[in-house]
Amino acid sequence: MDIRTVGIVGAGQMGNGIAHVFAVAGYDVLLNDISEEGLQKAIAIIDRNLERQVSRGKISAEDKAAAMARIKTTMTLTDLGQTDLIIEAATERETVKQAIFEDLLPHLKPTTILTSNTSSISITRLASRTDRPEKFMGFHFMNPVPVMQLVELIRGIATDQETYQTMLAVVAKLGKTAASAEDFPAFIVNRILIPMINEAVYTLYEGVGTVKSIDEALKLGANHPMGPLELADFIGLDTCLAIMNVLYDGLADTKYRPCPLLTKYVEAGWLGRKSQRGFYDYRGEAPVPTR
Ligand code: NAD
Repeated sequence: MDIRTVGIVGAGQMGNGIAHVFAVAGYDVLLNDISEEGLQKAIAIIDRNLERQVSRGKISAEDKAAAMARIKTTMTLTDLGQTDLIIEAATERETVKQAIFEDLLPHLKPTTILTSNTSSISITRLASRTDRPEKFMGFHFMNPVPVMQLVELIRGIATDQETYQTMLAVVAKLGKTAASAEDFPAFIVNRILIPMINEAVYTLYEGVGTVKSIDEALKLGANHPMGPLELADFIGLDTCLAIMNVLYDGLADTKYRPCPLLTKYVEAGWLGRKSQRGFYDYRGEAPVPTR
């Protein structure tokens, strides 16, 4: 199936990045949010990020202008009904996502493909509440979307081959690379990455290393561009904890139990960069380890 128009629900961190890459790839984008301020902010961020790409010589000023012209915004969700592909990137709460798909259903073309950017909610379950589980997929972008090369494509139990092939072609047109995953908790990247971060927090909790020595060990010893604790602060410690809980509950295996120290940091509101404190304190000129 040929995809030309894309409806994106949610104009937050991920939604604005997804709108950016689709517009650059030549798709017409209709971006929706419940907040007008959120939509305006998203457009300003996309403009700034495209400008950065122009200044680095990655795209031309004409490409930027054309991409900006392809993005329209609306607060009326049902306006998205006539697009070829819907990408839901709203708040990570199942009731929110279900309500979005329910409201959209009566307004969709029969051919429209539905996708969700969820990091942790079952694709099969979201799909089962729609009229087209065979045309439903997980479409998991990495943050920041314009920079990260990977996209996970997650097939629900009912997803058909045509939908999967169509989405593979979309990922290729975006100039990104797809990793295909089956619909099990946290898919591939977070299934591996977040337990590694949790193990780094255990290493800190048990006093095997300090924040500095753990991060340096993985950067220099395993050639990781960021240490696991630095990365945890970047992702958000609340997000890391939520994903550990999804793994723990969904796979019912004690090897996924969240480290009590991770829980403690979240209880303190030390969520990482976004709250200026996590495994590092970001309030001064340079980050200072908090343990
Ligand atoms: P965010 O909080 O930055 O943005 C969510 C946006 O959704 C907000 O602008 C909010 O106003 C909007 N929204 C809420 N309810 C809505 C509704 N009913 N209709 C339309 N818009 C609505 O969140 P985010 O980080 O962009 O995450 C969005 C999704 O992407 C989540 O499912 C998350 O799990 C997933 N995700 C996030 C990351 C990440 O690193 N942040 C990475 C991959 C996937």
